[in-house]
Amino acid sequence: MWKNMGLTGKIMIAMTLGMLLGLFFNYSGLNGAGGFVNTYLTNGLFEIIGKLFVNSLKMLVVPLVLISLICGVCGIGDIRLLGRIGTKTFFIYMMTTAIAIATAIGLGSLFGIGKGMNIPMKADFEAKAPPPLIDVFSNIIPSNPISAMANGDMLSIIFFAILVGISILMVGKPAKGLVQSLELINEVILKMVTIIMNLAPYGVFVLLAKAMADLGLDLIWSLLGYVAVLVGSLFFHFFVTMMIILKVMSGLSIKTFLTKMREVQIFAFSTSSSNATIPVTLRTVTKRMGVNNSVASFTIPFGATINMDGTAIMQGTATIFIANIYGIDLGPMQYLTVILMSVLASVGTAGVPGVGLIMLSMVFAQVGLPVEGIALILGVDRILDMLRTAVNVGGDVAVTAIVAKSEGKMDLAIYNDPEAGTKEVFDGHINPEDERELSNVFEDGLMGSEYDDINKH
Ligand code: ASP
Repeated sequence: MWKNMGLTGKIMIAMTLGMLLGLFFNYSGLNGAGGFVNTYLTNGLFEIIGKLFVNSLKMLVVPLVLISLICGVCGIGDIRLLGRIGTKTFFIYMMTTAIAIATAIGLGSLFGIGKGMNIPMKADFEAKAPPPLIDVFSNIIPSNPISAMANGDMLSIIFFAILVGISILMVGKPAKGLVQSLELINEVILKMVTIIMNLAPYGVFVLLAKAMADLGLDLIWSLLGYVAVLVGSLFFHFFVTMMIILKVMSGLSIKTFLTKMREVQIFAFSTSSSNATIPVTLRTVTKRMGVNNSVASFTIPFGATINMDGTAIMQGTATIFIANIYGIDLGPMQYLTVILMSVLASVGTAGVPGVGLIMLSMVFAQVGLPVEGIALILGVDRILDMLRTAVNVGGDVAVTAIVAKSEGKMDLAIYNDPEAGTKEVFDGHINPEDERELSNVFEDGLMGSEYDDINKH
């Protein structure tokens, strides 16, 4: 049965089993320090397999973004269109983030979370310094593209790739061979994504088993008000607000969208990283939703870096919660500052695990809330990070679909085909004919028949 099941089904089962096993380890006390489970499974085998899986995704991010974006720029056909798509995407990303945080502030105030609560401070919170905004903007142009790639500086990589793409277009016809080669390299990297996605059920299983075994759900009960409003706002934003925006702005089927989104969101949930999820997101929007690579190759990595609706929601909820606990009244101007700061903070920080807290300290400092208050929500943050990351990538994909549809850069036949992009699986077998033909290329090479041909003339 397992063999014949579709990948999404497998991943969903793996997710559920992983969470159940992790919770069992946690509640049965089996995950206690020094025990077999803790030493050899959660901090042993699971940790190693989980790391290998996340690394294998991260491994593809930089090459994929670089090559697919160069191809995207070459394929866009009209350079002005690139500017238009960029501007449009940027504004919709910012707008949805602002709506997200406003929702969180609204719901948080409505339920008065944290009012009258008396929680003892558990730990001191040392705020890590966020990158100064001025650096974020000035580093968009990398002084060294190789080091930008080595560090995974997404905005710099995007800038460099666009510049390369434009320059290739300027070279024109003679660059045709180069463009074809890049397209091929892009296909090769996407095949690597396919291979890794087929390992996802195992990766997702261990990541979730470890997370749940380590974290459990106990802390959630002690902060129930905060968690409930935050989770409610996340669900409301993605399933209601974003789906209305998607429907109104694109007319696309919501059901199809949500079904095709599932895999991406499980990846985001298990890895807590929009960045590490980029390969899967990019593959899904192009192969499963029919978005043209010329749009997706830009909007997806851009979104993973600057668009974080889920994180913004956490910041809005946390602001209300901490302000209420400390009995600090925030005025309308301060709420506006929170919205503005959160939007700016989401531009300035990358989509990696836990970065939301760093951004939160930036927001708190700005409106005069005690930064050490963050210690109160620290314990539950790891688990909420998983959920908000799923909402973050959900926003990236929705906006990508909207922009692609509005620019006529979407193949609706692919979008509406439930099977699209699911057939391609890697089961360890490669077409023997392809293998033979490609190995001949190397045997013959230039020193082989072609070389002889050339010499004969
Ligand atoms: N983990 C989130 C992401 O990668 C960012 C955060 O909220 O910490 O999108």
